[in-house]
Formats: sequence, structure tokens, C-alpha cells
Amino acid sequence: MNQQKALLEDSKNYLWLPFTQMTDYERDPLIIESGEGIKLKDIDGKEYLDGYSSLWLNVHGHRKKEIDDAIKKQLDAISHSTLLGAANVPAIQLAKKLEQITPKNLKRTFYSDSGAESVEIAIKMAYQYWQNKGFKKKTKFVTLSNGYHGDTVGAISVGAVDLYHRVYGSLMFESIKAPFPLVYRSGKKNPDAIRDHALAELREIFQSRHEEIAGITMESIIQGAGGMNIMPKGYLKGVELLCKEYDILLIIDEVATGFGRTGKMFAVEHEDVQPDLMTIAKGITGGYLPVAATMTTEEIYDAFHGEYEEMKTFFHGHSYTGNQLGCAAALANLEIYEKENLIEQVQKKIAIVKEGLDELKDLEYVGDIRQLGLMCGIELVRDNITNEPFPWKERVGYRSTLKMRELGMLTRPLGDIIVFMPPLASTEEELKQMISIMKQAIEETCKEMAGVGN
Ligand SMILES: *Cc1c(COP(=O)(O)O)cnc(C)c1O
Repeated sequence: MNQQKALLEDSKNYLWLPFTQMTDYERDPLIIESGEGIKLKDIDGKEYLDGYSSLWLNVHGHRKKEIDDAIKKQLDAISHSTLLGAANVPAIQLAKKLEQITPKNLKRTFYSDSGAESVEIAIKMAYQYWQNKGFKKKTKFVTLSNGYHGDTVGAISVGAVDLYHRVYGSLMFESIKAPFPLVYRSGKKNPDAIRDHALAELREIFQSRHEEIAGITMESIIQGAGGMNIMPKGYLKGVELLCKEYDILLIIDEVATGFGRTGKMFAVEHEDVQPDLMTIAKGITGGYLPVAATMTTEEIYDAFHGEYEEMKTFFHGHSYTGNQLGCAAALANLEIYEKENLIEQVQKKIAIVKEGLDELKDLEYVGDIRQLGLMCGIELVRDNITNEPFPWKERVGYRSTLKMRELGMLTRPLGDIIVFMPPLASTEEELKQMISIMKQAIEETCKEMAGVGN
């Protein structure tokens, strides 16, 4: 048996992939061996454009020299020592850097290793903040319909994507669901009216229950895994004002949206919002290593500060938290933003993508295209006049992405929504190439599927 074949067999025999029905993997396996720039190469030597930034992480492409070098340099000093009770050099430097680039009220960095953990930590911090301050009744969280914050039990408890969370219902703690101001499929109502309606409902919840509400958890300007839904202008600002009015902590999840993904360093900057807690992960190391962080204000930090006997300590930590290799990669990653003036560069790419996606708008099977920066969702429908969806069992989104793979681009859909999240470093040519692959794959797949159903 040749080596590729053996690997393939072993992958089917020993691996269990996340968020994957393994039957799908067994039918259409893929094993990546290397990457360079925004291309990935599988064990057979076939190349793919990384149309989903390796699941929304990658920034400067793969094997970026500056980040590779920074990790190698850190390897020569030390790979890991614990952050429990002791600091380390790159963890300190990164925390200082994060203070400079995040909204100005955020000062403290609490590290973890994944987005879900950064959310767990934010929830526990918010909860204990009120306990430490003597507000014992403030124990509940408000969350938005279709919100996604990761897959640990705490994170799914403040999430609301029915498909992922339904089965764990009795395992989750209860949170208070507020409606998301969804524009697509809401009839002809204008976005301002949708916003005002959602804010009014949130006000009602806050007004009647603020004494028991610790915080509200939500994504920033755009919901990711819940379907690439963009909030109408002014909604997030409105939530911030309501939080102030009712003394509720604003916990903003920037795991997907942070680090330039939406055209600003952080999406809260679109509306000049200052969260009390902010979670960051995905792009923080440029897509290299698992580092996440929960950022918070000095006011929240102070509520935990005191003598040990006061029992205010935040009892939470993970073995690899603050890992030196990860922090060194993150520092190198952030230096490139400055050196390459990346946020400004991204503006041109956003415009190129917008122009490209505009051409997909008229396709028979495209119901809606939602784009915020380089975060895009293309919703496929059976009929773009009535917006009638394809039957979910036909898996048009999944089939379309398999076709894209065949044509040389990787992404993963959210149901029948095609996700397009190219690395920020993608060139104009690469962006156009990816959009053209998506167009061809959508046309061919949908035509085929619409035919099957008739
Ligand atoms: C991906 C994501 C998470 C979870 O991050 P992991 O690193 O996968 O645990 C949390 N929140 C949002 C908004 C995300 O997109």
C-alpha cells in the first residue's frame, strides 16, 4: 500500500473530526499536508485556495516568514511554562499590545486557548463580578437568538443555534433569549424598524428582569455561525446604551470578527462601542496557534482584587494558558498589521469582494448576499423571488462546497449559506479566482438539485 492510501485508511480508523458526520468524511476524505500563502496542498499534491481561512483563522497566509521566525526564536528560549501564579515574557508583551489595540476601556487580558473558553471565562467573570460586589441575585445571562459562542457547555448555554444545541438542552443552564434583528426574510420592513423593534423587546426584558441579569452575551455587528447575519446600523450601540441604563454587563464576542476581519481592527469600532468584557481568539495568532483572551475593564478586575481571605479570587485556568509559543506568534502577527498597514490594505480587498459578489446576486439560486468586510455569506434558495429554501436534506450548501473543492477552493457552509472568509492577505487575483469558483459551483450544483426535486 502506498503512503497516501495508508494515511487515508488510518484517518478513517483512528480520527474523529469535529463538527463532522464521519460518513461524509469517509465518502469525501481530505488530508492536508502543507500550505503556502493562501493555498493548501493535500497528500496527493492537489492545491486549494483557502476560502475559509482554515475556519476563519488565517490572516497573512500560511508559512508567513515573520511568524515562522518568531516561533523558532521562542523555541530557543522556552516553549511553555505555567501562567498559574507566574508570568512569562511574551504573555506580558502581548497583554500590553492588546491593551493598546482594543477599545480604550479594556485594560486586562485573561488568557485561554480557544474562543469557547474565552466566552466561558467572560461568563464566569461577569457572574462572579456581581457576587463579589454583593449583588447576589444578578446571576442570569441574556443572549440573542441564533448567537454562537463556541461548543463547551457554558458557551452553548449562552448560544442559540438550534441545530447544534437542541440535543444538549437539559445539560445547559438557562439563559434569557432576546430576538436578533434579522433583516433577510423579514418581509418588507426596513432595517431601522427591525432594529427599533428588537431594541424595544430587549428593553422590556431588561426593565422587568435587570435585578437578576448579570450580562448580555452577543457577537459583534455580525453573527457568524448563526448564519452571517448583519445587525442593522445602530443596533449594537442601542444595546450598549440599554446595558448602561440597566446596569448589565455587555459581553461582546469578537472571536470571529476581531483582527481586521470586518474592515476594522475590532467590529465594535463600527459603532464606537465599549464592551465591559470582550472575547478574542481566531485571528489573534494569524491562524497559527491556539491562543484566546478575555479582555476586561479595570473596574471588573478591581472587584476580584484583594487579600486571599476575602475569597474574591477568580478560580479559573487552563494548563496551556499564556503559552509562550502562541504569544510569540501573536506578537509577530500583530507586528505585521502595523508593518503592512493591513487594515488599510483590507479596505481595497473588501471593495473587490463586493464587486465580485455583486455579480452573484442575479444568479437564479442566490437569495441573499451578506458581507461585512471579508466576512461573507451567500444564501442559496430554490427560488430567489419567493426565497423558498431548498429542502434541507438535499444539502445544497454542502454539495456546492464539495464542487468548490473539486474546482480548487475550500470552504464550509452553514446549512445552505456558503461562507466566504478569505485570508486578509489574499491578493486581488486570488479573490477573483475564488469568487469565480464559487459562482461556477453554485450554478452547477443548484441547477442539478433543482432539477432533482422536480
Ligand atoms: C469560532 C467562534 C467561537 C469559538 O471559538 P473556538 O476557538 O472554536 O472555541 C466563539 N465565538 C464566535 C463568535 C466564533 O465564531
